[in-house]
Amino acid sequence: MTDTEPTNPRTGGCLCGAIDYRVSGPLRSVLHCHCENCRRITGNFMASSGCPTDALVVDDDDGALRWYDLGYAKYGFCTVCGSQLFWVGAEHQDHTSIAVGTIDDSAGLVVAGVWFSDEAQPHHELPANIPTFGGNGTPIGG
Ligand SMILES: [Zn+2]
Ligand SMILES: [Zn+2]
Repeated sequence: MTDTEPTNPRTGGCLCGAIDYRVSGPLRSVLHCHCENCRRITGNFMASSGCPTDALVVDDDDGALRWYDLGYAKYGFCTVCGSQLFWVGAEHQDHTSIAVGTIDDSAGLVVAGVWFSDEAQPHHELPANIPTFGGNGTPIGG
């Protein structure tokens, strides 16, 4: 997986503007995840970049950011507008995944892989020429 040189700092935020964030340093390439958690919480599938948690600065003056915590992973969202912004794995809290659609300008980011591709819904056509992995991380093809 390659890191991408960002326009520095990279900025983003939720739909209503209650939550803004900025990232200094490179963002991770984009991963798609079709697991059931990501499917339901995003309404389709998760497309996330990410960065070291300490490179992410969140402005949330009204306390709109809330975390839906599954124990092994948690999803951060705006309680005002419902935008899904972040997710963090319990065992990798030093890395925060960022829903790529909330980044103001995703120029330079590429999709590097598709996770839980075997659980993708039938309506979704998996991208060609992108490595796909099953839920257990086993390469499926692509
Ligand atoms: Zn919002
Ligand atoms: Zn997922």
